[in-house]
Amino acid sequence: MQLFAIFGDPVAHSRSPLMHNSVFKHCHYPACYTRVHLKDGTQLRETFFKLKLSGANITVPHKEAAYAACDEIRGFANDVGVVNTIIEENGRLIGYNTDADGFLYAISEFQTIKKVLILGAGGTAKALSQKFLQEQMEVSVLNRSEGRLAFFKERGCKTYTWNDVQLENYDLVVNTTSAGLKDEELPAPVEIIQDLLHATRYAADAIYGKLTPFLQLAKQYGITYKDGADMLLGQGVLANELFVQNKLSKNEIEKFMKKSFAL
Ligand code: NDP
Repeated sequence: MQLFAIFGDPVAHSRSPLMHNSVFKHCHYPACYTRVHLKDGTQLRETFFKLKLSGANITVPHKEAAYAACDEIRGFANDVGVVNTIIEENGRLIGYNTDADGFLYAISEFQTIKKVLILGAGGTAKALSQKFLQEQMEVSVLNRSEGRLAFFKERGCKTYTWNDVQLENYDLVVNTTSAGLKDEELPAPVEIIQDLLHATRYAADAIYGKLTPFLQLAKQYGITYKDGADMLLGQGVLANELFVQNKLSKNEIEKFMKKSFAL
């Protein structure tokens, strides 16, 4: 029996155990998936081995620590320095990032997205911004503080803090901050958010399982919006494919993972 886990702080809200266990159960795959509340990201590697895990997902705020904890990074995670999926291979930790492709899956129903504004500058913002740039989109990033904006500026994004923001028209505004996750906060002062929502066609939030204050306003303004549930599903399907090392088909994984959203 293989054991998988999600590391995070907070982690109690995470739907990942339900999603992955649904696939394992329906496919009779000998594995089990649990939650690990980890406060200190530097303990990730030690905890992973202590629990004898075969793989893991990493959520807020440890995705950059997860990158540092790995022996080898594969694929898109190399472009962003952020890891949300780890696989153990012969005693070595291999890091991947499935968040950005999960998000593209989530917004595939939105028409012609060319210009995006990202709220927040953490691990998820890094992954999404790089994927959007690779998809030839124009990307702006707005964060409450300056410190983490250099990464985005160096890679060709327009960057702003709340104090110097200059809004344009966007196809999509996406909230990748954790504002609204445990609290009822907006990701930026209300005047900025109101202006933003008047300047975009679509709004999306990485947070799932609740209508965040950001999406509540989008709804109020009649903007087409979506929460992070499809992103969660998209990244989860790709992570599960890595966990089972292609022993299950993507269609099977998606079908049984979707079932868990009805619970
Ligand atoms: P990080 O901790 O790496 O980054 C968080 C960012 O949010 C930082 O830029 C931080 O700003 C900003 N921030 C935090 N609190 C506030 C606030 N109250 N107001 C404004 N800005 C704030 O987090 P992640 O990028 O890993 O995750 C972000 C969110 O995305 C989480 O809620 C997570 O659950 C969600 N997520 C959902 C996924 C899904 O599948 N649906 C997948 C991945 C993430 P500063 O730089 O100033 O500290």
